[in-house]
Amino acid sequence: MNYNKKNVTQVDVKGKKVLLRCDFNVPQDKKTGAITDDKRIRAALPTIQYLLENGAAVIACSHLGKPEPNFEKWVKKQTEKGKDPAELTEAKWKKALDALRMEPVAERLSQLLGKPVILADDVIGPDAQAKAAALQPGQIMLLQNTRFEKGETKNDPATAKAMADMAELYVSDAFGTVHRAHASTVGVSEYLPAVSGFLIGKELSIMGKALSDPARPFVAILGGAKVSDKIGVIENLLGKADKIIIGGGMAYTFIKAQGHDVGDSLLEEDKVEFAKKMIDDAKAKGVELLLPEDTVVAKEFAADAESKTVPSDAIPAGWQGLDIGEKTREKFAAAIAGAGTVVWNGPMGVFEFDKFAEGTRAVARAVAASGAVSIIGGGDSAAAVEQLGFADKITHISTGGGASLEFLEGKALPGVVCLQDA
Ligand code: ADP
Ligand code: MG
Repeated sequence: MNYNKKNVTQVDVKGKKVLLRCDFNVPQDKKTGAITDDKRIRAALPTIQYLLENGAAVIACSHLGKPEPNFEKWVKKQTEKGKDPAELTEAKWKKALDALRMEPVAERLSQLLGKPVILADDVIGPDAQAKAAALQPGQIMLLQNTRFEKGETKNDPATAKAMADMAELYVSDAFGTVHRAHASTVGVSEYLPAVSGFLIGKELSIMGKALSDPARPFVAILGGAKVSDKIGVIENLLGKADKIIIGGGMAYTFIKAQGHDVGDSLLEEDKVEFAKKMIDDAKAKGVELLLPEDTVVAKEFAADAESKTVPSDAIPAGWQGLDIGEKTREKFAAAIAGAGTVVWNGPMGVFEFDKFAEGTRAVARAVAASGAVSIIGGGDSAAAVEQLGFADKITHISTGGGASLEFLEGKALPGVVCLQDA
């Protein structure tokens, strides 16, 4: 994938109507609908402000949550979730859709911008079209939730064309959705010149450089719950990194692959062969693969579980590994010191429990102190680094969970591929 994409500063936006795909998929309070974290809205401000200040009329759009725009399908899904079909009325479905309207987003965006945000009542319907037609340079409007349109997630050409017809230029700044080919993330690029906003630009330049031309040594830190979630990442980074550190729940499958018992620790039996192959491949390629030497084991999966530290090749039956041990923390920290580039995906232990957060904390501290270009990909890893107070010492915390994972897997992201090359 070519990471070098044309950005919003490299095209003429003056007097143009710009369709801007944002990631306004913010968490909301279930009862009141109030936005509980507006980080994603704030992250979109630089591109919006640039466009408005440079004389564009901005037609912003985003999805919010997972509305089901088809009544029959909604009934089917709810029934599968165990709801009583007799109670699944059309009124209830409409209520569920209404809970995902863009009003709270428009309101917060307006507060943050300090100017009105015109909200459309639909996505490509008459209200959106009329408001888009009347929109003046320096003004911003927001379409309704793009997933209210049945054609959005199907990347239906007619839906994409109707969106595109309202504008003269497409700017994509929703990194969190670039791994999905939807009408508003990919389809519209068939009908409009398509360039990146600042957020996608930053993701591409930092992560793209790490994967294509990293400052060395390049250290990859991989952890998290499951090997199976990270197979693509491990394979891709094994071909690029100088050192690979493996911790977290996935480490036990590797420890098993070395012939040791892991007690009640997380283990994916069907991935033991894969882990063996990775250990062999690393050797063949001269990549240093670091595994935990000691492990904090617990009697049960609980915040206050009885725990002790044991060698990783001697995890007793009836105990489960929930964190890396002290020796391992030191070994990993030493491997991270002096790195040129660090890519980190997946916590080293169950950091949600204070007692088992020390391994993740030690690695976060080492990354922060390393002076390396440091990149965190993965939703839980980002949360861990923030919770432990190291976020401001990290070069780049990727904003896209699934998207950054696919990026690290070396996959072509359809929402990036469709943008014009620089
Ligand atoms: P990310 O979202 O950063 O990609 P993952 O979703 O793969 O990370 O993994 C995060 C989860 O892994 C966390 O909820 C954490 O508690 C869990 N985890 C880490 N180490 C262990 C372990 N030893 N046993 C069980 N769960 C673990
Ligand atoms: Mg996760």
